[in-house]
Amino acid sequence: MSGPVATDDAAPVPEPADQVEGPVVELSPARRTQVGNLAVRRVLPQRPRRTVGSWCFLDHAGPVAAEPGVSFGIGPHPHMGLQTVTWLLAGELLHLDSLGSEQLIRPGQLNLMTAGHGVSHAEEDPARADEVHAVQLWVAQPSATRDGPAAFEHHAELPRVELDHADGTVLVGDFAGTDSPARRDTAHMGVELALRGARTTVPLRPDDEHALVVLEGRVTVDGVAVEPGVLAYLGRGRDECALATETPTRALLLGGVPFPEPILMWWNFVGRTRQEVSEARRQWSADDGRFGRVHSSLERIGVGAPPWE
Ligand code: MN
Repeated sequence: MSGPVATDDAAPVPEPADQVEGPVVELSPARRTQVGNLAVRRVLPQRPRRTVGSWCFLDHAGPVAAEPGVSFGIGPHPHMGLQTVTWLLAGELLHLDSLGSEQLIRPGQLNLMTAGHGVSHAEEDPARADEVHAVQLWVAQPSATRDGPAAFEHHAELPRVELDHADGTVLVGDFAGTDSPARRDTAHMGVELALRGARTTVPLRPDDEHALVVLEGRVTVDGVAVEPGVLAYLGRGRDECALATETPTRALLLGGVPFPEPILMWWNFVGRTRQEVSEARRQWSADDGRFGRVHSSLERIGVGAPPWE
């Protein structure tokens, strides 16, 4: 379930991230779109909010009941300059990539693929689950690693943090003094919060910017209600944040140092210039080996030229 970025999501020019200095609660509705047979809420990128730390993409799919004969799988497609982060609340997916990785992922586990200069992958639907509920995020890679080698990691278990009336699972980075073992190339963090009602205060780094994405339930932050299908950007300058819930709620809290370089996102690529994105597209179309080969029964995904060509 890796969705291509359209020009509806991000302008086809390198864009700097917007800077907000203080705490805010800025709500931006997700764009509803389709990734294969899966309806998704595209929470990031947005106009004008394109990144949160180095998080540059978030698709939230489901919960949706599985139907016989309908696959939620996505055929082989390339990436460059980003990491894909896959997190499931229900269902399962089989990750296959050009490094030879073959990894089933289930709820509570993390798949983290680093594209670097180029990788390709497919996500097959084993069609055994009754329901699918999933999130896929991308992290923009910094100049230091974005032309480097591809890599893949699976974390069957992640560290957990106990808070008042909530549990946190640390996907990436550090939260409340607990570190995830997942690779990170920039100072970003992501934690899934399971909020059991009442009020939970989460510690934050004031120099980082943060955003909250509710996956299930409802959270009130600074008097503003946040539900699924919305990016709640929280700005910077917070050393903690109070989250109030009345029903069991699951939410992703994302943060990090604002990404320092203007990025250009188009289709499945994160780059800096149109030329390098055009070149990546041309090389995938020519199947010249840059992105390797994925052994999948699903059809390879192609794309036409970008709008500037
Ligand atoms: Mn993908």
